[in-house]
Amino acid sequence: MSTSNPPFRVIVVGAGVTGLVASHCLQKAGIEHIVLEKRNHVAPPEGASIAMYPHGARILHQIGCLEAIKAACVPCDRWLVRQSNGKEIMDNGFFRHLEDNHGSGLLLLERREFLQILYDHLPDKTPIRTGCGVKSIKHTTSGVEVTLNNDQIEIGDMVMGCDGVYSLTRSIMWEYANKTTPGLITAREKTTMKTAWKSLLGVAPMVPELGERNMTVVSNDGYSFLALSQPDRVYFFFIFRVDKPFTWPKRVAYTDQDAEALAESVADHPISDSMVFGELWKKRLRGSLVNLEEGVLDHWHAGRIVLVGDSAHKVCTQISRKAAHGIF
Ligand SMILES: Cc1cc2nc3c(=O)[nH]c(=O)nc-3n(C[C@H](O)[C@H](O)[C@H](O)COP(=O)(O)OP(=O)(O)OC[C@H]3O[C@@H](n4cnc5c(N)ncnc54)[C@H](O)[C@@H]3O)c2cc1C
Repeated sequence: MSTSNPPFRVIVVGAGVTGLVASHCLQKAGIEHIVLEKRNHVAPPEGASIAMYPHGARILHQIGCLEAIKAACVPCDRWLVRQSNGKEIMDNGFFRHLEDNHGSGLLLLERREFLQILYDHLPDKTPIRTGCGVKSIKHTTSGVEVTLNNDQIEIGDMVMGCDGVYSLTRSIMWEYANKTTPGLITAREKTTMKTAWKSLLGVAPMVPELGERNMTVVSNDGYSFLALSQPDRVYFFFIFRVDKPFTWPKRVAYTDQDAEALAESVADHPISDSMVFGELWKKRLRGSLVNLEEGVLDHWHAGRIVLVGDSAHKVCTQISRKAAHGIF
């Protein structure tokens, strides 16, 4: 009779950007794991673009995805800044300098395309299980027990919480931490994730006014417009302050009507010398209104649970901060 122990097993919660990259890394290291994703698809048609700076490109190279990512997009070229009346006040080759100095420019593609490439390039896809929402996690004497929404139980040695900014894994980790070390996770830390900004975001067909591979920024008091273009499309973000900033556990969702009303309120704002935002919004292929949370936790692990990605640290675009301070 064999007396060998089962292999060390990691249970990853969430198959977003971090969860899929975790699977690549665990596969390279030969560590047994599963990735549980509540959505039915790894690459849902949600969100707008994801942009990768050189340090991200380095990781993508190490996991064998960089060539496919590069083939799917055109590196950005110029960075334009415009006043609130649309008049250009800066035009430079920032992204070319980035490539010259760091070996890779800004790689820009739609989030769902990015996720699909990460998935397609996994050496083994069997660890990824979609339609598997996690509802509870329990420490046992020798490991962890993870219960799915359908009451199925997965047993492992540790949990990696890659489940985003509203992480359930994080809430469970906090409870465990405060039970084993009372007072470790303070109310201050629990309210670290703040929402002070929201963004209308979307994808539209390419418009000549925003170029084929440019980043355009237009700012004024309390808002900032950002567009990143590719030869066939433009990703856009119209960033606003929320009326009243709030923190976890409060969560606010927006409807299509909310997005429409906000877009209407800035429809006449110039985004170039010859175009207003309303024209771009009208042409959109997809668009929605989302919150932009930001915060960095002090504690990223407790017991057999570790947090990775947005569940532990989420940074908001610097563009909105700069707009708030009137830098542009
Ligand atoms: C729908 C969506 C659209 C986004 N759009 C953009 C964008 O346009 N531009 C941009 O810069 N960033 C966007 N982001 C955020 C961006 O993906 C993250 O900031 C960043 O890539 C870090 O990724 P992450 O894997 O830590 O978290 P996320 O990308 O948020 O992934 C978390 C994953 O965990 C899953 N999950 C959550 N709870 C559970 C649970 N209980 N059980 C199982 N699975 C669970 C979610 O379905 C999701 O797939 C978006 C995120 C989401 C979820």
